[in-house]
Amino acid sequence: MELIFEISKNGRRGFIPPKMDIKPYKLSSKYVRKSSLKLPEVTEGDVVRHYTNLSRLNYAVDTGFYPLGSCTMKYNPRLSERIASLSGFAEIHPYQNPETVQGALELMYKLGESLKKISGMDAITLQPAAGAHGEYTGIAVIRKYHRDRKDFNRDEIIVPDSAHGTNPASSAMNGFKVVEIKSDDRGMVDVEELKKAVSSHTAGMMLTNPNTLGIFEENILEISKIVHSAGGLMYYDGANLNAIMGQIRPGDLGFDIVHFNLHKTFSTPHGMGGPGSGPIAVKAFLTDFLPVPIILKKGEKYVLDFSLKKTIGKVRSFYGNFSVLVKAYAYILIMGEEGIKRASEMAVLNANYLRTKISKILKVPYNARCMHEFVASTTNLQNKNIKALDFVKRMLDYGIHPPTVYFPLIVHEDIMVEPTETESKDTLDRFVEIVTKIAKEANKNPEVLKSAPHETPVRRLDDTKAARHPILRWKEN
Ligand SMILES: *Cc1c(COP(=O)(O)O)cnc(C)c1O
Repeated sequence: MELIFEISKNGRRGFIPPKMDIKPYKLSSKYVRKSSLKLPEVTEGDVVRHYTNLSRLNYAVDTGFYPLGSCTMKYNPRLSERIASLSGFAEIHPYQNPETVQGALELMYKLGESLKKISGMDAITLQPAAGAHGEYTGIAVIRKYHRDRKDFNRDEIIVPDSAHGTNPASSAMNGFKVVEIKSDDRGMVDVEELKKAVSSHTAGMMLTNPNTLGIFEENILEISKIVHSAGGLMYYDGANLNAIMGQIRPGDLGFDIVHFNLHKTFSTPHGMGGPGSGPIAVKAFLTDFLPVPIILKKGEKYVLDFSLKKTIGKVRSFYGNFSVLVKAYAYILIMGEEGIKRASEMAVLNANYLRTKISKILKVPYNARCMHEFVASTTNLQNKNIKALDFVKRMLDYGIHPPTVYFPLIVHEDIMVEPTETESKDTLDRFVEIVTKIAKEANKNPEVLKSAPHETPVRRLDDTKAARHPILRWKEN
């Protein structure tokens, strides 16, 4: 595709402003450009076509199935987008007097109340801008909690080997040592390993449940007890909340801090680094440590409260990514209690349907009932030369976004599939059909996998080069 700079023609205009009817002001020459700004010269039609064509090169959940494990790429109702773009939400400013934005504060307050109810927690901040940022904030709360009690020895956070990379990263960024513990042969935290790992150095444990293998940690109550008896706190990585919302509450499983990925579970398109939101909720005894301000209801008024005595400070400008908060609250209201519950049931049902079908084609190492996602592996293919990467790149040729690969790190050549509740049985059956086809190709015609994708605007990338030497802007040659 030609870039907009390449279709530019000297003198072509998309817009001609009306003639000025005021006297021009002469700028001092030191502010005046010596050469012209090289903007593309195109018609309005050229611009519209350029961006529309670019958008059509993208794969999106709006164009097809997007079973990216650990990411909850569900279809997001357009109604929440419409609500977030109402001018009363979209055109207010964070510096406005709180008296003039009572509706926005009410929305944030009520969203907080809903999230507390869903998670079984007592207090909340909506500030963090993503899941990883929520983790950072939550671990900072853990750090301050122990210091406040003059318990300076606690310098370790326990993280299972199936954890998302952001868990050890947020611990390390807060100055903790990361103690990794192994999973057992059913893909769960090994309780004996955990008992050995806890000590007077334990500040806390980070856990997602269901874990990244899509397996519910059955021993969660015992795990919480072990960590608590050692004096540590329990952190819930809420990225997989879609699997349990409306069914059970992290607060009842012994967790002290929870983050939500509103852009996964609560209806904001997720991915490509767009605005996200990672509120954290805590048990009552940690309220004083939350970032300020928090939103309180005083009589009939909503106020920003800065009075938390032991606050870790601010973690983001203003109050969080407001438009994401609007979409999350709209989604919760659209779904209602019954709908939220039904969504998690359907997500789990869809994942188990796919797991059962896929396990006849690929190896599914932990092939027991799963939650919202499952992990398969290509190691059972006859042709040992075919990697998980080759397998999923071929899916692109059949019009499906590849699932997550090579995560979690404890399964070789793994493909992590999360269908979500918003896909129909027809879509899931088509996915199974495509996986069946590709598995056959892997034996009969492996080269077609090795060189896939063939039908996409860009063929297979050199991942390392793309990460190390990205070309992010056009340069005139
Ligand atoms: C996505 C994810 C995170 C990080 O969340 P972001 O919002 O992407 O920063 C953390 N843990 C797990 C298990 C995840 O899937």
